[in-house]
Amino acid sequence: MIIAVDGPTASGKGTIAKRLAAHFGVPHLDTGLLYRAVGRQVALDGGDPDSEADALAACAFPDALLEDPVLRSEEVGGLASRVSIHTAVRAALFERQRAFATQPGGAVLDGRDIGTVIAPDAEVKLFITASVAERARRRWLEMTAAHIGREDQIPLAEIEKDIVRRDARDINRKDAPLKAASDALVIDTTSFNKDQAFDVVLEAVRERLAQA
Ligand code: C5P
Repeated sequence: MIIAVDGPTASGKGTIAKRLAAHFGVPHLDTGLLYRAVGRQVALDGGDPDSEADALAACAFPDALLEDPVLRSEEVGGLASRVSIHTAVRAALFERQRAFATQPGGAVLDGRDIGTVIAPDAEVKLFITASVAERARRRWLEMTAAHIGREDQIPLAEIEKDIVRRDARDINRKDAPLKAASDALVIDTTSFNKDQAFDVVLEAVRERLAQA
């Protein structure tokens, strides 16, 4: 069983995917982390994230980089969104994601193009979304709690602007743009807390599985 969880940044998709994986006892892959690792590696190499060749070279990042907490920073998120535009980068990361999705026993993957490109054959496809204001508020709370660098000093309006910028880049790119698969369940979590969002999602997943 493959569960694909897509959606924009700070929509709650990561938390939901993790909880779904724990609930069904299957492994989970946060695919955004792969793009973040590429973005970070380009910076470490002194390369240009907007250069396809530099970004492709950075796809050979060491696995240990995936454990680096700096990958969660807003700065690396911005780099990830820039390197993820390149077709060669998406192709280089495809096999790793596809192999994870198709492992025996199933998996949960979250990202932007899981239901559309990585696992169009997923039994359950979810598209998790929320308003920009609410996503910015969640991101701000998260950063304040985590004290990542000095990001807790960033004003909410700045975070909101950054989210709008990243949404635009993800939605408008040519290759694998952020969009709900035609057979995805679209769930707006704006007015839900984490537990409520998970309850709604779990119910929807159960219904979908019962129909399968
Ligand atoms: O989900 P997260 O914010 O960690 O993703 C960082 C960036 O990586 C996104 O803004 C997006 O541009 C890119 N990404 C992608 N495809 C995925 C996952 C992430 O293009 N499956």
